[in-house]
Amino acid sequence: MSRSRTNIALVAGITTGHCLLYRHLTVMRIAEDPSCPECDEMETSFHFIAECPMYAMVRWELQGKDSFSVEDLANLSIGDILRFTKETGRFQAGMLPGTSKPVSQQGE
Ligand SMILES: [Zn+2]
Repeated sequence: MSRSRTNIALVAGITTGHCLLYRHLTVMRIAEDPSCPECDEMETSFHFIAECPMYAMVRWELQGKDSFSVEDLANLSIGDILRFTKETGRFQAGMLPGTSKPVSQQGE
């Protein structure tokens, strides 16, 4: 997979919730607990991108806010979401949706 295809898969996974966030893993019966590993709230895509206090600094550096509203999310570009996701490092150790390789081995 090329790097751009990898990025598209990553953004699609984040924005649809079909990715390695615990809420989705619970629905898929891969994990039993939908809680965020960082703060114990349910780990939805919205929680990850907009709310989780663990990533407040990343939001601040990218957008000047420590949490995002629904309106803020609507104004983010695909590039913004991609940058946020990479800066958090949340998926570095995991797998991309629909693939069997760790992120670090994709597109090199
Ligand atoms: Zn959290």
